[in-house]
Amino acid sequence: MAKEKGFYKKEGLNVNFKEFNGNDIVDEVLEGKADFGISDFYLVEARLKGKKVVAIMPIFEYSPLAIVSINPNIKSIKDFKNKTLCIPKYYLNTILTELFFIENRIDIKKLKVKNQLFGLNDIKNKKCDLYGIYETDQLYYFKKYHIPYKLFAMKDFGVKIYGDILFTSEKLRYSNPKLVEKFKKASIKGWEYALNHIDETIKVILRKYNTQHFTYEKLKDEALKTKEYISNFKFNLEKINHIKTMTKLSLKLKGDFDLVDFIFSPYIKTQKEANFIKTHKIITANTTKWPPFLMEKDGKLEGIAKDFFDIVKENLFLKTENKILSSYSDVVNYIENKKADITFIATKTPKKENYAIFSIPFSTYQIVIATKKDISFVPDLNFLRNKKIAIGKDYSAYDLLKNFSKLKIVGVEDTKQALLMLEKNKVDVVIDIMPVLAYYISVLNLDNVKISGTTPFKYNASFMIRDDYSILKNMIDRVLEDIPHIKKEKILSNYINVNYQQGYTEKYIKVTYFWFGIVIIILLGIILIIIYQLSKIKKLSKQLETMAFYDKLTNIYNRAKFKNILKEFIEYSKRYKTPLSLIFLDIDYFKKINDNFGHEKGDLVLKEMVKVAKLSLRESDVFGRWGGEEFLILLPNTDINGAKIVAEKIRDAIESHDFDGIKVTVSLGVTQLKEDDTIESFVNRADIALYQAKKEGRNRVVVF
Ligand code: GH3
Ligand code: MG
Ligand code: MG
Repeated sequence: MAKEKGFYKKEGLNVNFKEFNGNDIVDEVLEGKADFGISDFYLVEARLKGKKVVAIMPIFEYSPLAIVSINPNIKSIKDFKNKTLCIPKYYLNTILTELFFIENRIDIKKLKVKNQLFGLNDIKNKKCDLYGIYETDQLYYFKKYHIPYKLFAMKDFGVKIYGDILFTSEKLRYSNPKLVEKFKKASIKGWEYALNHIDETIKVILRKYNTQHFTYEKLKDEALKTKEYISNFKFNLEKINHIKTMTKLSLKLKGDFDLVDFIFSPYIKTQKEANFIKTHKIITANTTKWPPFLMEKDGKLEGIAKDFFDIVKENLFLKTENKILSSYSDVVNYIENKKADITFIATKTPKKENYAIFSIPFSTYQIVIATKKDISFVPDLNFLRNKKIAIGKDYSAYDLLKNFSKLKIVGVEDTKQALLMLEKNKVDVVIDIMPVLAYYISVLNLDNVKISGTTPFKYNASFMIRDDYSILKNMIDRVLEDIPHIKKEKILSNYINVNYQQGYTEKYIKVTYFWFGIVIIILLGIILIIIYQLSKIKKLSKQLETMAFYDKLTNIYNRAKFKNILKEFIEYSKRYKTPLSLIFLDIDYFKKINDNFGHEKGDLVLKEMVKVAKLSLRESDVFGRWGGEEFLILLPNTDINGAKIVAEKIRDAIESHDFDGIKVTVSLGVTQLKEDDTIESFVNRADIALYQAKKEGRNRVVVF
C-alpha cells in the first residue's frame, strides 16, 4: 500500500517489487539485484557468517511458524511423543524449531519427522498428526475445511523471535542513509495504512498481485492474523542479542557482530561514526545529588537526565561505563581532564566551553520563583527588589541574577537548604529550575511553600561532552532532535508525579493545591515564553517593565497580546482537558457618557471600570482590552457556571460603584471553550451572547 497510496512517491522513491522466485533474498540484495529485501531472523545468521546485511526494521514481532495438531489425542506438547510431524525441511532446520523443542523439553528424536510441504490432501487424509505451518497463511485451510485442530504457535510457547525483517546492504546503508530512512518511513506508513484499510488492501492484492490465486476470504483471514503478529517497527536490542546467542549456539558459529553494524540507525550516518561507536566505550560521570534530574534509587542512578541519556544510548548502541562522583565539581573536573566523556546534565557557559562541548538541549526549563503561600502571585522581577533571595551557589540562576543590582541574593549550598530557609522565614524567595523546586517542595512536604511566579530565564539542559568528541555530539544531537515533545513531557511528569505522590497520597486537598500551582506555573510560563519570544532582547527584565503588551489607558493586556495569550490558553485547555471560559464585556451606552461628560471623562470611566472589574477576578484570570470600550476576560480552569458567577459579580460591582456621579453599567456575554473551537469561534460565541444581553435590555449577563 506504500506504493499504491503514493507514500513511496511522496518520498521521491520509485519502487518496484520483485516476487520471490526461489533465489536467496539475502544474496539478491547483497549482489545489488535489489535494494531492499524481506527476510527474517535468518539475517542474524547471515551477518554472523560475514554477510554485510543491515536490518532496517522488524515487520513481524514473532515468527508465525506454528505446529498444528489434528490428532484429538494430542492435548499438550507432552503428547507429541511418537507422533508424526510433517514439516518442510527449511522450517525444521531453523533455530526457531530447535528452540521450540528445547523450550518445551521435547526430544525431537522421539517424533517421526517427515520433510513435507504443506498440502491440503495430506491433511484431509490425516497423513500426519502434526504439521508445521505458517499460522498467518495456512491455518485458514483448517478452518475452511472444518478440520478440528489444536494450535501450538511458536510465540505462545516460549519462542519470541522476530518474523519478517526488512533489510538492506551495508553498501546502500552508508552510501545513501537518507534513502534507507525514506524507504523505512514510507514502508511503515504503508503497513499502517494496509492494516487500517484491510478491504481496500485486499482489493488491490486481488487486482494486481494475486499470483497465488487467493480468494478474498483467504486474504481477509491472513490480514486479521497478520494484525496479531505485526511489530511496532522498532527493534528490541535484547531480542536481537538473544537471537544472536541462540543462533551461535545452535549453529556453533564463531563469528560475531556489533549491533551498530547490524541494525540501521538513521542517527549514524557514516562508517566512521559507526566505527567510533564500536571502538569507544563511553565513560559517563554524574552525581546523584541533583534530583529530579539525577538521583539515586536502590543504588542506581535515575532521573530525568538519565532517561534522556538512555534514549540516546539505545539509539546509538553505545557501550558505557558509568561513574558516580561525589560532587558536581568532580564531574566537571573529570570531563575537563578527559577522565570521563560525558555527563548527563549541564548548561553551556563560556567557561565550560573552554574544555567541553554541549549537545543541543534535551529540554528547556523555566527558572521559577518559590515563596511562602501568603504571597499569592509574583507578577515580575520587580517583586524581587529588596527581598532576600536564596539560590544555590553553583547554580546558573545564581550567575544570571547576581549581576542585577537591587537584588539581595543569598548563596546557599543547594535548593533543599534554600527551601528550608524559606520555610523558616530566613529568606523571602527561592529561585531554581521548575522541576527541582516542584520536586523538593513535594518531597520535603513544605505545606507553606509554593511556586508563585516565574522569571524570564530558562535553563537549557544539555549533555556536556569532552571537547574532542564532536563526532559523538553530532550523533547525539540527531537523536535529541528527534525526540517528540510529548515524550519529553512524559519523562518530566514521571518524576514530578512519582515523588509528589509519595509525599501527599493521603492528603487529597494538598494534591489539588499542588497541581493547581503547577497549572498556574505552566500558564505563567506560557505567557512569559510569548513575552520572551516577542522581545528577543537580552535585557529581559527591562523589557518586562516596558509594558509593551499592555494597553496604555487601562494597563491591562492589549488586543494583540490578549489574542496571543488566548491562543496559548486554548491549546493548553484542549491538551489538558481543563475548562476555559470567556467573558465579553461592553459598556452600555458609552457614547452617551462621552457625549454628556466629554471624552476625557469617558477615559477615566474606562480606567475606573477596569479597576472595579479586576476586583472580582482571580490572579490567574486574564483581562484584556479588545478595543474601544470592549473587554475580554479569560477564565482558566473555570467552567460556564463559574464564569457566569464571575460575570454577574462584575456586573453587580460596576452597577453599584460610584463613578463620580455617573451611572455606568455593562453587558456581558459568557461562553465556555468547546473541543473544536478556534480563537474566532470562541470569541464569536461570547460576542453573540453579549449582543443578546444588549438586545434584552443591557446591564445583564447572557450565557451561550
Ligand atoms: P451599547 O454598547 O450599549 O450598544 O452602546 P454604546 O454607546 O456603548 O455603543 P458602541 O459600543 O457602539 O459605542 C462605543 C463608543 O465608545 C464609541 C466611541 O466613541 C467610544 N470609545 C471607544 N474607545 C474609547 C476610548 O478610548 N475613550 C473614550 N472616551 N471613548 C471611547
Ligand atoms: Mg458599548
Ligand atoms: Mg461597543
